This record gives sequence, C-alpha cells and structure tokens, in this order.
Amino acid sequence: MTSYTMTIDGKAVAADKTFEVIDPATGEPFAEAPDANREQLDDAVAAARRALADWSRTPLDERRQVLQNIGAAIKPKIGDFADLLVREQGKPRDRAAGEAAGAMTWFRVTAAYELPVEVVRDDDKGRIEVRRRPIGVVGGITPWNFPLILACWKIAPALLTGNTIVLKPSPYTPLATLVLGELIRDIVPAGVVNIVSGGDDLGRAMTTHPGIDKISFTGSVETGKAIMAAVAPDLKRLTLELGGNDAAIVLPDVDPKEAAPKIFEAAFGNTGQVCSALKRLYVHEDIYEPMCAALADLAKQAKVGPGTEEGVSFGPLNNQMQLDKVISLVEDAKANGARILTGGSRMERPGYFYPLTLVADVTDGMRLVDEEQFGPVLPILRFSDVEDAIERANRVKYGLGGSVWTRDVEHGLE
Ligand code: NAD
Repeated sequence: MTSYTMTIDGKAVAADKTFEVIDPATGEPFAEAPDANREQLDDAVAAARRALADWSRTPLDERRQVLQNIGAAIKPKIGDFADLLVREQGKPRDRAAGEAAGAMTWFRVTAAYELPVEVVRDDDKGRIEVRRRPIGVVGGITPWNFPLILACWKIAPALLTGNTIVLKPSPYTPLATLVLGELIRDIVPAGVVNIVSGGDDLGRAMTTHPGIDKISFTGSVETGKAIMAAVAPDLKRLTLELGGNDAAIVLPDVDPKEAAPKIFEAAFGNTGQVCSALKRLYVHEDIYEPMCAALADLAKQAKVGPGTEEGVSFGPLNNQMQLDKVISLVEDAKANGARILTGGSRMERPGYFYPLTLVADVTDGMRLVDEEQFGPVLPILRFSDVEDAIERANRVKYGLGGSVWTRDVEHGLE
C-alpha cells in the first residue's frame, strides 16, 4: 500500500495513527492517510509563522515564480493525480484529469495577478493609498467534491499575496492534496505550505488555533455556521464558501430538446456534487411535459458507473453519508406524491451508486426542493406565471447562483 505523508515545515511527516480512505466505487478502503495529532498541527502552524517573516517580504515577482513552478510541477503529474482522484473521489477519469489540469492552470493564472497600489487621494491635503498586505497564517479547510482544485484555490492566492498556509483536506479525499504537498515540498520555501490530514476535530482545532489568523473554508452550511462561531472569540478573518440551491427558470419560448443537454449537465455534472449545480428546475407549464421527456431521454442514455470504466460519464456519490441523504430526500418526495421519471432508488451494486433521478410534480416546501441535495437528483417544478416563479425561486435562503432560460436575452435580463 502506498504511504502518504503530510507536509510540515517542508518535510515529510507521518502520524502515529492513520485513517482509511474508501473507494466510493466499491465501498472498500484502499489507502490510509495520516491522522495528525495536536502537536503536529502546532508544528505546522509554528512552521507557517516562522516562514511568514521571509515569505511576506519576498518580492512579488519571486512569489509569482514559485506559483509558476508549482504549475509546471503539476503538469507532468496530471495523469497520476487523475488516477488518485478517481479512486478517492469517484469521478470519471476524464473529469478527474480536467480537475488536475485546472489545478495547474489555477497556479499559472493566479501567478499573473497584479496587486496594484490604489491611490484614493493625492492632493495638497494628503495621500491615501490602498495596499494589499498579507494577513498572516491562513488555515484552509476543504470538502470532498473537488478536493484538488479547491485546495489550489486556497493555496495559490494565499501565497501570491504573501501569506503562508496550513491546509486540511476532507477526510474522505485527503490523498491528492497530500500528494500535492509531496510534489511541491522542494519548490516552496519550508513552512510556506503545510498539509495536514485528519478528521473534523482537526478542522475544529484549526478554527480555534491562536497561531492562525484567517480561516478559508469550503464546505457545508452547517459546518460554516459552526466555524463562524468558533472563530468569533479571537476575531479571525473568515471566508466561507458554502452550499447552494440554485434555481433555474425555464421560460415558454425555450425549445426543450435544445436546452435539455445544457440543463442536464448543469444539474448532473460531477454526479450533482457541485456547490453551484442547478438544483431546482422551474419549467413553464406549456413546455413542462416535453422538458421532462427530453431530460428523461438524456438520463436513460447516460452511463453511471465506476470512474475507471470506459464510457462512464457519472461516477458514484463520494460517501455513505451523502448517499443516505440523497435516498432520504427522494423517499420523502415519493411519500409526498412526487412522480419519479428516471432512477429513484439505489443501484444494486457495491459502492455508493445512485442513478440519475428526475422527479416531477414536485412542490415548494418538499425537502427535495428546500434542502441542498448535492447529488444526482433534479426536482422539476411547474409554473404558469413568471412573477410567481421568481418568488418561488427566491424563497429559500441559499445562494449561490441561478439561471433564466429563454431565447430572448432582453426578456431574460428583465
Ligand atoms: P463539510 O462541511 O462536512 O466538510 C468540509 C470540511 O470541513 C472537511 O475538511 C471537514 O473535515 C471539515 N470540518 C467538519 N466539521 C468541522 C468543524 N466543526 N470545524 C472545522 N472544520 C470542520 O462539507 P462536505 O460535506 O465535505 O462538502 C459538501 C458541501 O460543500 C456542500 O454543501 C457543497 O455545496 C459545499 N461546497 C461549496 C463550494 C463553494 O465554493 N461554495 C464548493 C464546493 C462544495
């Protein structure tokens, strides 16, 4: 079995304890990851603090070059990262390779960002400038849907702006992030990037750690609330990227066959495990049944299976907890009179597979509509009046996005 190490102060660090990483396509463990103890977290934070003095004063162009070097190091490893992402996350291999390529690009693009000094005022009374200064040690905490790219979204900007970072991946998907640490150990000055793995407790310890100045968190709403409360006592800076429940409104001028493939991808890409996926579909009654039929055709043709298998476009859910959540939301919708167009019950095979599921005759207030499903299930709601559809789309408290589908852009904007 490959052994994975954490990166602390530029060195490979193992842990006394490990935890199992499960392949979602089989439901079986296939690897073990280090379970960092508190002293190791302290070491990582101390290393990040020590490194901060030099790194924050390193000229911007040199920091840029380090980001470019990380991007260059990822490039030849895209295939290896893809294999690992398929195993730990479950997505099909071409999608996994896309995520790894995206990680590389993210370092390159971020390297090119400017940090200009903004002059707000410059006259005989004085000069006022806005300068972007490093905050200090950033604690990054990531989820399991796009483990590698979300880690890079935190590491690259933190480093460009002169911060150092301690990053903890999700316990469901720690491996690609640990390997990223191994890959960049010799590229980044010691202590600038530290990768520690462990469970939710390790995340909690980061949020209250006195040596961490800012938390950048991507994950669920519930955890986001807990973190906001946890960082309050010492007023840590905080960025939260949480769950969504994006509504799409489809106006009657839309050709269902033409729009269906785009709606389908927006809803089911990454098996629906996307924060900004299309999660509630409001369709005008004039085209409701044709839209249901067009989407159902696509769902029936799509191949769900292990990410390693040729021709598979949709992998399993990542973990048992998420599978249970999806099952419970669909069962609740069924019990409340919804009509299942495709899918609707767990696939009879090992692993966390759930079929692409379209649910019609759904109403607002059902759990499947009001909660974030984060899985391959799309509730399709009917509307007759567009003002009513807008109100219903805005009913829930979630972001993150939303869409209007029409042939008439002006009308859509309105
Ligand atoms: P999660 O909140 O359960 O876990 C995310 C991370 O937080 C993990 O690393 C976990 O170990 C850690 N954690 C758990 N409890 C913690 C605590 N009390 N204190 C500190 N850390 C803690 O989320 P998840 O189930 O892994 O991810 C799915 C969610 O993430 C979905 O809701 C999805 O919409 C959201 N997400 C949002 C974005 C975005 O950019 N807005 C992107 C991807 C995913």
